[in-house]
Amino acid sequence: MSSRRTLIRGGHVLTIDPSIPDLPVGDVLIEGNVIQAVGPNLQVADAEVVDAKGMVVCPGFVDTHRHTWQTQLRTVASDYTLSDYGLNIRLGYSSFYEPQDAFLGNYAGALEALNAGVTTIVDHCHILNSPEHADEALRGLREAGGRAVWCYGLFPNPKHHPFRFDDFDPSWRLDDARRIRKGALASDDGPVYMGLAPAEVEKPAFEAVAEEVRFGREIGAKVISCHVAMGGHSVHVRPSVTTNLGRALLLGPDILLVHGNSLSRHELGMVRDHGAAISATPEIEVQMGMGRPILGAALRAGAKIGLGVDIVSNIGGDMFHPMRSALVEERGADNDVLFKNDQIPRRLEFRCRDVLRVATMGGAEAIGLDSKIGSLTPGKKADVICVRRTSFNTMGAWDPEATLVHYATPNDVDSVWVDGRAIKRNGALLGVQQPSIVEQVWASRERLERQYREINIDQLRSTKGYQRENYGN
Ligand SMILES: [Zn+2]
Repeated sequence: MSSRRTLIRGGHVLTIDPSIPDLPVGDVLIEGNVIQAVGPNLQVADAEVVDAKGMVVCPGFVDTHRHTWQTQLRTVASDYTLSDYGLNIRLGYSSFYEPQDAFLGNYAGALEALNAGVTTIVDHCHILNSPEHADEALRGLREAGGRAVWCYGLFPNPKHHPFRFDDFDPSWRLDDARRIRKGALASDDGPVYMGLAPAEVEKPAFEAVAEEVRFGREIGAKVISCHVAMGGHSVHVRPSVTTNLGRALLLGPDILLVHGNSLSRHELGMVRDHGAAISATPEIEVQMGMGRPILGAALRAGAKIGLGVDIVSNIGGDMFHPMRSALVEERGADNDVLFKNDQIPRRLEFRCRDVLRVATMGGAEAIGLDSKIGSLTPGKKADVICVRRTSFNTMGAWDPEATLVHYATPNDVDSVWVDGRAIKRNGALLGVQQPSIVEQVWASRERLERQYREINIDQLRSTKGYQRENYGN
């Protein structure tokens, strides 16, 4: 039986595979759901030919941390501290999400990602107010058509009217995560994989964290996504969750430590030695006072690290901005050392190519999918994007890596394939009714906004439950 073939012809191919040279003019052949060949002037019969002349062809971006459900909460957090975010979104807006809001946030948010060439997202999904929310959030990702690790969120969002923290039993979530694992996500073949997002791991006693991690392992979660080591926000956690996980022999390749800004050199060594990984989300970390991104230190320590967007209630959902921010942050940190000694840089050590690798292959390694995605390597799954260099912001952009890091926007993404399936072609998502989605997102936002404005936030801030959740007392 012959498989569907697509030949991406004549683009500037960035393979992100050190064993396969980049090709200033080259072809990529997709057959079924895999990359069949990469080379110059491939001769193929019976293939749909896509003219990629002048475009950059590269692997799709891998976002290792996103709360996709917040898509209709755009701009809410754009001037927020982490405490503002915890109070208003995690304890406020989230409580009013209905299952259809969870679907819509995830569906529209996953489309936003795909439109921008982000072919894989780790969805840290802590909007699961009921089993129906779980079904709908997962359906949203699936219907959008991207690759994802869907991390079942164990965080118990509070109820309102009247506000109650204490009567909210979170234990049903464990049974429900098991239900999803046995049903909708029983397969480990993707493109959507089962993951787990423990409740905030720096809040409870470590034994409770260990239990959730063991649970994730028991159900075979691909990724166990944990927010950790966020500077002053985590200062009360001694020893750190990372150290405790290491001591308890629970640090492993399925553990994804999100942020990790204040991880020590010793802890980075533990992360490396146990095969765990880090997700850095530079824009949110810098804004919210979590510390400088750990990217450079993690790379120097030899630890696996990917980039993430994090909260789409704060920033847009493409990977161009996180790449830029990560690069600027690292260069700033390097140059600051010289500046303090009245010296000047001779060469920028952290290059565009380095950050592009982190945003693709680095992310794939961080979530244990590096044998399947992250580079244009024959035999890997065909998650491929083409980026035009014909817009006002990309014309004349000769260097393909710098084009992606410093100039491109989602509007420059011409084509996207996930698992060999065309998701975007000629600059448009296929089979997507954009006006109807836009209308639904606005309607959802308007309702959530009305409900949120009815709560007394000051009263919420002073409740014992909030104080405990935020400050551990
Ligand atoms: Zn997060």
